[in-house]
Amino acid sequence: MSTEVDVVVVGLGPGGEYVATELAKAGLDVVAVDQHLVGGECPYYGCVPTKMMVRAAGALAEGRRVPDLAGASTVAADWTPVAKRIAAEATDDWDDQVAVDRLEEAGVTFVRGHGRLTAPRTVEVGDQTFAARRGVVLNTGTAPGVPPIDGLAESPYWTNRDAVQLTELPGSLIVIGGGAVGAELCQVFARFGVSVTLLEVADRILAMEEPEASSVVTDVFGDEGIQVLTGVEITSVEYADGHFTVHLDDQLLQAVKLLVAAGRRPNFADLGLDTVGLDPSARSLETDDRMQAGDGLWAIGDITGKGAFTHVSMYQADVAVRGILDREGPGADYRAVPRVTFTDPEIGSVGITEQQARDAGLSVRVGVAQIPSSSRGWIHKVGNEGLIKLVEDADRGVLVGATSVGPTGGEVLSALTVAVHAQVPTASLRSMIYAYPTFHRAIQDALKDLH
Ligand SMILES: Cc1cc2nc3c(=O)[nH]c(=O)nc-3n(C[C@H](O)[C@H](O)[C@H](O)COP(=O)(O)OP(=O)(O)OC[C@H]3O[C@@H](n4cnc5c(N)ncnc54)[C@H](O)[C@@H]3O)c2cc1C
Repeated sequence: MSTEVDVVVVGLGPGGEYVATELAKAGLDVVAVDQHLVGGECPYYGCVPTKMMVRAAGALAEGRRVPDLAGASTVAADWTPVAKRIAAEATDDWDDQVAVDRLEEAGVTFVRGHGRLTAPRTVEVGDQTFAARRGVVLNTGTAPGVPPIDGLAESPYWTNRDAVQLTELPGSLIVIGGGAVGAELCQVFARFGVSVTLLEVADRILAMEEPEASSVVTDVFGDEGIQVLTGVEITSVEYADGHFTVHLDDQLLQAVKLLVAAGRRPNFADLGLDTVGLDPSARSLETDDRMQAGDGLWAIGDITGKGAFTHVSMYQADVAVRGILDREGPGADYRAVPRVTFTDPEIGSVGITEQQARDAGLSVRVGVAQIPSSSRGWIHKVGNEGLIKLVEDADRGVLVGATSVGPTGGEVLSALTVAVHAQVPTASLRSMIYAYPTFHRAIQDALKDLH
């Protein structure tokens, strides 16, 4: 026997939670399923706790900058307040009752368990089966990818989930993976006194970003005592007597803990994608601009491969809600997806990189301005590393990509996101007035440099 409903949402990351709530508020009969915590990775193991860690590490860094600016300082790092804040304020000790109550108050029927498609518009959770008249929304997110390194899978390595639940810090840490997650956590732990080595197989860390951005952050990491090794080949991992030994082709590294931050893989295991004609081994689900992955099937969030960010999941959720409710509105458009890596300096970027623009055959002009030589950067002094890089489609006279690295790189990004999203002519951007002395005023210098 199956229960008939309007919509079943499988996986309640930030987007799925929003879809379920909005559809129920609109009067649909909605069942929402999650096997772990309502809200997904972002509030419990991702964005929120890691940004609390970044904030705390930033306070330490600012304290250490006092001698360059304002006298003397003594900074004694202590992880206890960070761990307490994450447990008490971010995650309720990894308890989602508040989120479950919020869902149910909106009229959603919440079912805790593993959801699995068994046929089009049909979801099984344990011994319950739901038949969805309108369809099924998938928002199952991703899990950490574990590279096939000899000995790694059998070792007690950490992922982001362990990192945000720490109550005590180790003396030493090796991080495998120099993407946003690895880079942010590396700097946090190093600033709290952990001896950190970052291993990256590519020839630079933060390889998604402009090379200039990678280079600024790599230099800062070096200055802060983080050992960054790029272009490495990790041949094996061993764990014995409380120590990890990581074998590279030409050297051997040891640390008390090992954190794997080597990308994410979609949660497609045992989701029944094959029962609706989709490939469970795919890296992502193809969706149209209304987030439909098939007849009566919608997919949102990290599993769509359009940017593994909470803001993308929420944006797509909004598009899916409109589609399911047959409401008018624009379809999904990914030309101006912003992203921020919360290292210090922050890297904000939007649109495409210079290389991607050249590969797309555009007639490219690039402009760069260095933050330390801008008025605000010079005033800021210690901790002022950064740059603005603009990528223009010269034929159309609009920006197609931009990067802002600096103490508030993520905030400066907002102006650049508007420019890329709204295709503001660079001639208009040049004729604007930029407040003095702000970090964003360096955009004007980068515009002047376009060549
Ligand atoms: C360390 C870290 C830091 C991050 N920092 C940022 C940041 O600063 N800014 C940002 O925008 N993004 C950040 N992200 C990414 C962000 O967390 C995700 O993009 C965001 O959570 C959106 O994911 P999602 O909606 O696809 O689903 P997720 O949040 O991954 O949630 C998926 C949900 O589906 C459930 N689920 C999976 N399979 C099933 C099943 N078969 N049945 C039932 N339930 C199932 C899971 O239990 C989970 O609750 C970070 C990620 C990590 C790991």
